Amino acid sequence: SIMDTDWVGLLDEAKSLDSNPNPTELRFDGKVAIVTGAGNGLGRAHALLFGKLGASVVVNDLGTGTKGEGGEASPADKVVEEIKAAGGKAVASHDSVEDGDKVVQTALDAFGRVDIIVNNAGILRDKSFTRMTDNDWDLVQRVHLRGTYKVAKAAWPHMLKQKYGRIINTTSAVGLYGNFGQANYSAAKAGIVAFSNTLALEGARANIVVNTIAPNAGTRMTATVMPPEMVEALKPDYVAPLVAFLGHESNAETGGVFEVGSGWTAKVRWQRTGGVGFPVNKPLLPEHIAAKWADIINFDDGRATYPTSTQDSFSAVQANFDNVASDV
Ligand code: NAD
Repeated sequence: SIMDTDWVGLLDEAKSLDSNPNPTELRFDGKVAIVTGAGNGLGRAHALLFGKLGASVVVNDLGTGTKGEGGEASPADKVVEEIKAAGGKAVASHDSVEDGDKVVQTALDAFGRVDIIVNNAGILRDKSFTRMTDNDWDLVQRVHLRGTYKVAKAAWPHMLKQKYGRIINTTSAVGLYGNFGQANYSAAKAGIVAFSNTLALEGARANIVVNTIAPNAGTRMTATVMPPEMVEALKPDYVAPLVAFLGHESNAETGGVFEVGSGWTAKVRWQRTGGVGFPVNKPLLPEHIAAKWADIINFDDGRATYPTSTQDSFSAVQANFDNVASDV
């Protein structure tokens, strides 16, 4: 009878007979993905996943230490071998992301196009602001912000021409909220968020989708500040699936910022208080600001909003043009 039927068993059997057991799998066949800093940590996980899902992958890595010191070919080469051993397609790029045109040229030479960019390469030069040197500041800006810019800039004309692109940039919670000892890194990472939001706007009409992730992962970069259990719980493999999703042609989400790690994923947005508009036909004094300060910073009076564009932001300012006091 129908009650006696082992439906679960039958379903399992049907699944095992199916040559494509996961028909909704997000595939990347025919697509070319560049992952920067892919010789280690997060970038390696992203590159391996894209390779597994059918993309042709450019594994870029300069092979430096966490502070940007030295340089060797082996990290990128190893990941290329891993992708190939699993039946995927990959080539290595050993250039710095500061030479973004060379990184993109590697993709064009090997695979003839570029569809996906994951800007992930990074270094740290942590120091209290008091002790931070110009060199600590400049090196971090160059690799993170300028490197992200250079790779995107070199790929951009190709993406515009083919009317297709998926860019995933890497910020950090530190770029969103700040952190002691990371003035250089937080500034570069915040710059990457702003850069991504503008590219999302400029790319929209050409189906170029741009998002930013703020990952948490146990890598050599964080191994020095995390206990071993935490490094284990924060596997880069928990971050890569979001990057693949954002890099897929089915994804229309653009200009988003996502915090991700340990199997958890969430979206971040700006919130703005309802604000206080002062009359435009009266002098505005610091004392007026002081008197209304509690209202200016109040997120809990039901008037807070979530502006999503510069126009959106300006609308409240504009609305105050008509704020004319009658008692003048
Ligand atoms: P990682 O040190 O393990 O890997 C970074 C890789 O980038 C290295 O292989 C390095 O050789 C490469 N690299 C450095 N400079 C380069 C350059 N100029 N050109 C090309 N490659 C270069 O670090 P990770 O933890 O995997 O970090 C990856 C990204 O994620 C970084 O942008 C980092 O700031 C960001 N991030 C990581 C965490 C985390 O928890 N691990 C948190 C927030 C943000």
